[in-house]
Amino acid sequence: MKSLLRTSAVHAFPDARGRYGAFGGRYVPETLVPALDRLQAGVDEHLHSADFQSEFMHELKTWVGRPTALSYAPTLSKRWGAEVWLKREDLAHTGAHKINNAVGQTLLAKRLGAKRIIAETGAGQHGVASAAAAARLGIPCVVYMGAVDVERQAPNVGRMQLLGAKVVPVTGGDATLRAAIDEALRDWVSDPNGTYYCLGSAVGPHPYPYLVRELQAVIGREARAQMLEQAGGLPDIAVACVGGGSNAIGLFHPFVDDAQVKLLGVEAGGRGAGLGDNAASLTFGTPGVLQGSYTLILQDAFGQVQETHSVSAGLDYSGVGPEHAYLMTVKRVAYESALDEEALDALAECAKFEGILTAIESAHAFYGARRYAKSHPGAKILIGCSGRGDKDMPILQRTLLKDF
Ligand SMILES: *Cc1c(COP(=O)(O)O)cnc(C)c1O
Repeated sequence: MKSLLRTSAVHAFPDARGRYGAFGGRYVPETLVPALDRLQAGVDEHLHSADFQSEFMHELKTWVGRPTALSYAPTLSKRWGAEVWLKREDLAHTGAHKINNAVGQTLLAKRLGAKRIIAETGAGQHGVASAAAAARLGIPCVVYMGAVDVERQAPNVGRMQLLGAKVVPVTGGDATLRAAIDEALRDWVSDPNGTYYCLGSAVGPHPYPYLVRELQAVIGREARAQMLEQAGGLPDIAVACVGGGSNAIGLFHPFVDDAQVKLLGVEAGGRGAGLGDNAASLTFGTPGVLQGSYTLILQDAFGQVQETHSVSAGLDYSGVGPEHAYLMTVKRVAYESALDEEALDALAECAKFEGILTAIESAHAFYGARRYAKSHPGAKILIGCSGRGDKDMPILQRTLLKDF
């Protein structure tokens, strides 16, 4: 199989120290360094080997259901005065893009001789994907999940348990995703050889942001080829929602060299611009270190990381992958945010007019695309539909459906 890497100035990142310009790197306690060195060696040896890539592609094809469809959206196109195409990660096994990364990392774990997989999860989507991938390989899986999230996302806890994973509630810290990542890192330090830490987004210390990008880039590679074949050319713009940034970097990466293709990331604008009212780290954040990486984070003037708010649990994180901070700085990708109510409105429109109940996370991208279409009539727009909305029914009952 030919190399899946393409090179250019922007693609040359990260550098040898895991940096994307000023961002990224590896800001971790001494105790974590051997585990990260071991992971780095594993990535260097296996990730782009023909053998690993063919096993990975085989699993994506026969178990995950790739390539996922590229769907033309006729009614949205008409309503927005644009040409709208949807990359359907909602059709992937377990209902979102997270499975691409989970499959890749668990295959890597097997090659590194790991006896157990650990993962963190916020809304539960990455936990479900990791549990499924670990079950497939017959490796035991432990998922750390904030106690608050265990409560909020009960159906996903049950899914993980049925898939054979042990779910460990984390009561310390903010008892949500940030605390779950801290706990997973602690577990990993205590057994860096037998345990593999499957991190769920393009965040954390090097090499995770790079590893996750390379595994998720399958989204953009497929979408690029499908646009050429089905839409007769590249899109004018590709739009994706940004939480930690894995589905967005996966969609964007193969388009970065196509100078004519604009790239737009849409963050969770929550209730508005106030600190604590959103999860828009690129829009409102300042540089700092969070969970091993120098990036843009939501913090107060004293450097205290702030709680976040978003109607979508999957975007509710106070940091963002370092490559996004870099791509914003060099102006290759534009970032904006969508409010809770704007995302919900876009979700309702897509469901009613295209027959697709998208995840609330993905609906942020739909809203950003709609706003772009207004000022760019006729534009050819590619939207990353990162997941399906079934998991969001409890929230949709309390919001969109409350007056029905
Ligand atoms: C987890 C999740 C996201 C946010 O994570 P990224 O790493 O930013 O992609 C977006 N959409 C869905 C459906 C998710 O489950």
